[in-house]
Amino acid sequence: MSGSADVLIIGGGPAGLSTAMHLHALTPAIKAIVLEKAHHPRPKLCGGGVSIFGAAAWRALGLPWPPPVPHVPVGTVRFSYHHDIVTLRHPEAVFTVFPRVALDAYLAHQARQRGVTLHEGVTVHRLRRRSNDWDVLTSAGTYHARIVVAADGSRGTTRNLVVDRKHSATARLLESITPSNGQWVQARQAVFDFSAVSEGLQGYTWTFPLDDGARPACNQGVYDARIARQAPKARLPTLMQSTFPHSRPPQGHPIHLFSPFQRFARPGILLVGDAAGADPLFGEGIGPALAYGQIAAQTIAVAFRRHDFRLRDYRRRVLTSPLGRYLTLRWAVAWLGYRLAPHRVPMAVIWRIAHTLAFFANISSASPR
Ligand SMILES: Cc1cc2nc3c(=O)[nH]c(=O)nc-3n(C[C@H](O)[C@H](O)[C@H](O)COP(=O)(O)OP(=O)(O)OC[C@H]3O[C@@H](n4cnc5c(N)ncnc54)[C@H](O)[C@@H]3O)c2cc1C
Repeated sequence: MSGSADVLIIGGGPAGLSTAMHLHALTPAIKAIVLEKAHHPRPKLCGGGVSIFGAAAWRALGLPWPPPVPHVPVGTVRFSYHHDIVTLRHPEAVFTVFPRVALDAYLAHQARQRGVTLHEGVTVHRLRRRSNDWDVLTSAGTYHARIVVAADGSRGTTRNLVVDRKHSATARLLESITPSNGQWVQARQAVFDFSAVSEGLQGYTWTFPLDDGARPACNQGVYDARIARQAPKARLPTLMQSTFPHSRPPQGHPIHLFSPFQRFARPGILLVGDAAGADPLFGEGIGPALAYGQIAAQTIAVAFRRHDFRLRDYRRRVLTSPLGRYLTLRWAVAWLGYRLAPHRVPMAVIWRIAHTLAFFANISSASPR
C-alpha cells in the first residue's frame, strides 16, 4: 500500500480529515494521503460535544449541519460551583452532543466521497528526514512526501518533532458512558460542575445527554487541565466515584493543550488538532481540530505555489485566525482561572463574572434576529 505523495497526513480523525478535505477543495492537484492506524468506525473516548464554534468549522467543510448522525441539541447548560448555578440557554443548541464514533465515521465517508485518499489500518512508526523530503516508516512499508501533517491526536508522538516541552501541557480525563432512562436526553440538558476546584481539580465534572440511535445514555466524566503543573494533583478516580456513584467504570485519555507560545511547525512538518493543542479551559477539541485543518490546507497550498516548504507562515496564520483568538482567550482564562480557583475570594469574583456573561448571552440568544 506504500507510495509517494506531496502530503502525508498522519491520523484520520477530525483534524486529519479536515486538512485533507480542505486541501482537496483548494488544490486537487496536490496529492495527499491520510494514514490512519484504525478502521472507521473506530472507538474514540470523547464527550462528543460540538460547540457553536465547532458547528461553523464543520459548515466550512461544505457539509450539512447538523450532520445526519444521531445527536442531542443541548438547549440548557448548567455551570455549577457548589450551590451556585449559572445557566446558559439557547433556543436551538448551546452545543450538540454526538456519539463520537458515528460522527468521525460520517466525516471519513464524506472525505472519501469527495476524492480524499484514506489508507486505513496503516500505523506510522517513525519519520526520517531525507534532504528536503520525509520517509515515513509504517506497518505497510515506507511512504515518501514533501510535507507531513501530524494529526495523530494527543497520544501521537509526531508532535515531539515540533513542540518544545516547556510550553506543552497535557490534561487528564476520565469518562464513563452509562445507560439512562432518557431523562437527560429529553431535557436536552448538560452540566459542568466546577465544585471540585476547591479540592485541587483544574477543571470540572460533566454530564452530557447521549443518544446513539439505539438507547439513551449519559456521558459523564472529569476534566483536569493540569495547566498549573506545580500544584498537587486531584485524585480523579476518587472524584469520579464520589460524583457519579452509579456510573460504569471509567476509562482515561489525555488531551494535549494549546499554548500561544509553542511551535506549530518546522520545515516540512506541521501540527493540527490535538497534536497542535486543544482548548485548555474546557478541553474542547473537535471544532478546533476541524478549524486547524482549514488553516493547514491554506498554508500547504501556498507552500506548493511558492515552492517554499519551510511553513514559516503557519504559526502566524493560526494565531491571527478566529481559531487562534478562540484558543488564546480560553488559554488565558484557564491559565489564570485554574490558578485562582482554589482560593475562595477570587473564585467568588470569577463566578460573578460568569453570572454576568451568561445573563448577556441569554438575552442575545433569546432576542429575535
Ligand atoms: C474523555 C474525553 C472527552 C472529550 N470530550 C470532548 C467534547 O465533548 N468535545 C470536544 O470538542 N472535544 C472533546 N474531547 C477532545 C477531542 O476528543 C479531541 O480534541 C479530538 O478528538 C481531536 O481530534 P484529532 O483529529 O486531533 O485527534 P483524534 O480524534 O485523536 O484522531 C487522531 C487519529 O490519529 C490516529 N493515529 C494515532 N497515531 C497514529 C499512528 N501512529 N499512525 C496512524 N494513525 C495514527 C488515531 O487512530 C486517530 O484516529 C474529549 C477528549 C477526551 C479524551
